[in-house]
Amino acid sequence: MKIIPYCLGLLSASITAFIVYSFNQWSEFQFHTLSILFVFPVGALIIGFFGASGLFLGKKWTNSKMYQQDYFIAVLLGFIAYFGIYYLSYSFTYFSNDLDEVRFITQFERPQNYISISETIPFWDYLVLINNSSSSQLMLKGVKLGDPIEFGGIFSKIIFLIQFIGVVIGALAIMLFLSSQKYCETCEKYYLEKVLKRFKPINLEDIVNRMNQNLGDGISLNQEINQLSPINKEDKTYGQLDLEYCPKCHKANFVFKFFEKNAKGVPNEINDFRNTIEIKAQVARALLNV
Ligand SMILES: [Zn+2]
Repeated sequence: MKIIPYCLGLLSASITAFIVYSFNQWSEFQFHTLSILFVFPVGALIIGFFGASGLFLGKKWTNSKMYQQDYFIAVLLGFIAYFGIYYLSYSFTYFSNDLDEVRFITQFERPQNYISISETIPFWDYLVLINNSSSSQLMLKGVKLGDPIEFGGIFSKIIFLIQFIGVVIGALAIMLFLSSQKYCETCEKYYLEKVLKRFKPINLEDIVNRMNQNLGDGISLNQEINQLSPINKEDKTYGQLDLEYCPKCHKANFVFKFFEKNAKGVPNEINDFRNTIEIKAQVARALLNV
């Protein structure tokens, strides 16, 4: 098990906490609590996602296999990022001695007559305090509407819970993406993908069948691929033939995909049509020119 991806995970969680904390100070808005219609925790989702992003990138970069426990670690990283934001404000919030004024300052420029929250109460008590005094601000297109709504009690606990779920989903989303990547156990490498051709999906079944018959023969396959009719910009639907392969041993598959463009012209894959055929390494090498 390689350690680098986990170090990068800790790094991404810390950076995420620091950026969101800095943004909160600058904007006077609590980004991590941002939600749509109170129930869709966008801020928490983004924090979970970016908090665990280092683990994802590290795994890809070092070609290390994903383990079941990595889901758990990703969620943990999401929470390190999330609570890191609270920890930073816990560490850098200072009160004047008469408690009249609250200031956010760093240790370096700290004036004599200020005390930090972290010197007064434990972190856990601070979290409980924040939880009990949480409020919600309605916003529309970046404009604050009305006064903040004070919650407290059961409502603020529900809102906290919804944010927790957001962090979990955000962290799991990026790991689900990683787990969907094919991995060669022998060479310990993630598969690469290459688009061989986009084509008009006429008689898609025939095409797949013909390819299937010529699987052992790189030259015939190449001819088949060249005979596929190329697409135009106007085509609303198209087929795509990808080669996914291990970059070391060239174990490979053909992947037939079928795309449909939406009203805005963005292609979406219709997953039901996906067809994967295993091909020989020597054929893959011929197609890749290696
Ligand atoms: Zn391999």
